[in-house]
Amino acid sequence: MTNRLIQSQRQKPHPSRPKIIGLTGGIGSGKSTVSQLFADYNIPTIDSDLLARQAVIPNSIGLQKICSVFGQSILEEDGTLNRGNLRELIFNDPEAKSQLETILHPLIQSATERQIAELVERTQNHKPTPFLLVAIPLLVEGIQKEGHKPEYIDEIWVIDTPQEQQIERACQRDHSSAIQIKKIIAQQASREQRLALADRIITNDGNLEKLKLQVQQIMREFISDKKELNHEDTKTRR
Ligand code: ATP
Repeated sequence: MTNRLIQSQRQKPHPSRPKIIGLTGGIGSGKSTVSQLFADYNIPTIDSDLLARQAVIPNSIGLQKICSVFGQSILEEDGTLNRGNLRELIFNDPEAKSQLETILHPLIQSATERQIAELVERTQNHKPTPFLLVAIPLLVEGIQKEGHKPEYIDEIWVIDTPQEQQIERACQRDHSSAIQIKKIIAQQASREQRLALADRIITNDGNLEKLKLQVQQIMREFISDKKELNHEDTKTRR
């Protein structure tokens, strides 16, 4: 699908509800770090990785469905998902990978939508927020596969980090080798593919101070937008 088509699908959110931002970027690009910096301004983040893990906890529908397709060998002795076995099963088996995605995607999607609805209600009633973040590592890969972005997302913000820094930071954080991180990067969307879908780019090529300043700048924009909105409200009421 062309970017223009994807663009035309973007609908303006209702002015009184927060914008829903899909925050994405490659491995080690800084999604959690950026989310944390926004959290300092009380901007909530929904972590889709966390929802994906919750979708397969013992006794969940997700885990039951996975077992019915892939068998009990996919479980650890304590009934939790053996991620290593599952990874091996779907590695080099596109059909198994697709079966797994067919099980998990709708579950993760509805959990995300539920959390957005809860947060929107909470923020509208108690703590107004100009936007909320949904951190989705594989957002661009999903859009390429589905041909459109998830309906609940208003804007896509991409964290753009030079590959050497991604590798260095991810290696340090995960105690992995550069070869392992490079393999993961090769499986993810390219920088160009991400940037082509970005409504906003956050460049994470420097120290934390530099990143903080960008977050601060974005918050300033949104806060002044909000003032303008209130100003317009006042004018119409007169
Ligand atoms: P993943 O998708 O792999 O979980 P991520 O995109 O959430 O990663 P982070 O965990 O936020 O990335 O960042 C990766 C590592 O790099 C972390 O250890 C984080 O503390 C560090 N980091 C991120 N940005 C910076 C920065 N500007 N300066 C120094 N360290 C940074």
